[in-house]
Order: sequence, then C-alpha cells, then structure tokens
Amino acid sequence: MINIATAPVKTYLSKSKIPGFDYVINPYIGCPHKCVYCYAEYMRKFTGHPEEWGDFLDVKTCEVPLRPAKLFRTRVMLSSVTDPYNPYEKQYELTRRLLKQLLFCQAQVYILTKSPLILRDLDLLKQFPSCEVAFSYSSADESFRQLAEPGAGSTADKTNALKTLHEAGIKTAVMGAPLFPGISDWKALIELTRPYTDRYGFDSLNMRPAYQRKVLTFVEKHYPQLVPLYSEIYVQEEPTDYWQKLGEEIQNYCRQENIRAEIYFGSSRSYSGG
Ligand code: SF4
Repeated sequence: MINIATAPVKTYLSKSKIPGFDYVINPYIGCPHKCVYCYAEYMRKFTGHPEEWGDFLDVKTCEVPLRPAKLFRTRVMLSSVTDPYNPYEKQYELTRRLLKQLLFCQAQVYILTKSPLILRDLDLLKQFPSCEVAFSYSSADESFRQLAEPGAGSTADKTNALKTLHEAGIKTAVMGAPLFPGISDWKALIELTRPYTDRYGFDSLNMRPAYQRKVLTFVEKHYPQLVPLYSEIYVQEEPTDYWQKLGEEIQNYCRQENIRAEIYFGSSRSYSGG
C-alpha cells in the first residue's frame, strides 16, 4: 500500500551536478519501482516519511511555470532520484505537463526510465529539438528484474518501448546499470537491445554503506552461491580487480563489435566503438 501526498515546491528545476546537463527535474519524491539497490533512498531522510522507500510518493506541485528565457536550448535530465514514469504518472500526468512546458521552452531533454509508460508521450518527444531516451537494465533476465526491481516495467515491455521509440526516430540509449556481479549478463543485454539503441552505458553495482546490507541480504536469500564472490568484492579489505577486468572485457567486446559504449567503472572511464 503506497502513501501518496502532494509536495509544494518553489521550482521543479535543480541545477545539475551531473556532467553534460544544465538542470535536473525530479517530478516526484520517492519511487514505487522499489529497486533493491536504489541509491536514491537517501532522499527519504529529507522528507520525514516513516515509510520504507517505495511505499510513499510525493507528487510535486509548483505554481511557477518553466521559463523559456532560462531554459532555451539547455540540457535537462529527467530524472536522477525518481523515475519520471512511475506507475502513478499515468494518473497524475505531471511528467507530461512538464514535458509540454519544456517543449515550449525549446529545451533539450534526456529521459532515464525503466517504464514503457513513456510511449504515451511519444507525440511530445518527437517535437523536441533534441531528445534522448535511456532505458536502464540491471539484467536482461526477467526473473531477476522481478526480484530486484519489482515495481518497474518488465524486460519485454521495456524492450518493446525501446524498439518503438527507436523506430519513431527518437535517439535511444541502454544503460546496463547497475551490473550485479555473477548475475547481470551484459552480452545477453546487448543481444536483446542492439537493433534498437544508438549507444550503451555500463555501470557497476557500487554499494554505499547505507544500503550495502540490504543488497547483500538480497544476494544471500536469492543467490546464496554468489555470497563468496560478493564477500570478496564488497566485504573483504583486500583490493579486488573484478571491476577492472569486467570493464576491460566489455570494452574489448564493444570495440570488436563496433558498438558505441561508455564504461563508467574500472581504472578510467572509457569509450569504445561506434
Ligand atoms: S527506478 Fe531508479 S529511482 Fe526508482 S527505485 Fe529504481 S533505482 Fe530508485
């Protein structure tokens, strides 16, 4: 049972700390997708909500419209600490209203989601001067998706949405993130999505102390055979070369296959192919 409320804000815009973007818009506080690894869970402490992350959703309200003078041709990301197409967006249409304003402002948008609901707004996306939609996948395996991202769109629905957007001429990206050691099959993800995406990004499961216990408990429960590997990577103090090797493996494969990909972990951020 989710607790839904409204949250008046002075502005929907936040100055971006993410390279490549001027502003970030998070239309909601909270996220019903309930991913077990969600790094945005720290937001809960700013809200006063006693509920678990994923069990509350604040729908932002703001009287002040977005201004073209401020946003013309700026790069705006939706979203960094929520999914702009969580299932309640169907009812509230807040992301859709914001997209209409962003279109009026002629902003350039980058949308990161795990939901096929984005197809509802294809009519708007097509009109932007620049628009890219990225879908994130922690795995191509639907049974893992059901365990790790229980509220998000299914692997098949997400992939169909990716295909539809790509065929409609929208720039698309696949974020293989976060990659779970011993679980996420990045080659299977490439195989599943390659015809429908312009590029890839890959990121590691980078556990912050606040939620490391939650993720390790998840692994112990569902993948007990992987406990030694997770212990080697995340618990033991000796340095591990796991991510370095994985990054190199992905990079070499993408170079060979001429796949445009960025690796966000390992010794240095790297770029391959395409
Ligand atoms: S979709 Fe993103 S913001 Fe929502 S729970 Fe999953 S990781 Fe967190």
